Amino acid sequence: MNKTFSIIKPDATKRNLTGAINNIIEENNLRIIAQKRIKLTKSQAKGFYVIHKEKPFFGDLIDYMTSEPVVVQVLEGDNAVKNYREVMGATNPENADDGTIRKKFALNIQENSVHGSDSDENAKIEIKYFFRDEEIVG
Ligand code: GDP
Repeated sequence: MNKTFSIIKPDATKRNLTGAINNIIEENNLRIIAQKRIKLTKSQAKGFYVIHKEKPFFGDLIDYMTSEPVVVQVLEGDNAVKNYREVMGATNPENADDGTIRKKFALNIQENSVHGSDSDENAKIEIKYFFRDEEIVG
């Protein structure tokens, strides 16, 4: 698959970084083929991060993800999942490589500015969670 799912997270939308992050995405051969700014409900956020529900940080993660608007996106390009994971950088910005979005903008391991799918299978599920087919226009 040549698509991945992305979220520009609350710490980034709050600091007016949507355009700066989109620039980095586009400079790295990813095309934004769907995008909307929404405020996640608790139940949407819990459903999205259900895989982490037993983790000690789950409550904090849900509070954070619902604290400000987010921008959900579908990105298209060669090896989109792998490419975007590299463009994002490591989960913890302290471990992120120079030039990555998280190295540049993330505040800490939780407020790390962006989400990107970690597999083609999850990309499909995550895209479907937020977008109808007719909202995705290459
Ligand atoms: P990702 O795929 O790089 O986003 O990382 P994960 O799937 O492991 O975690 C999902 C999200 O949960 C991360 O992007 C962070 O926002 C948050 N998170 C992950 N690990 C921690 C942690 O140890 N503490 C806190 N507070 N948040 C975390």
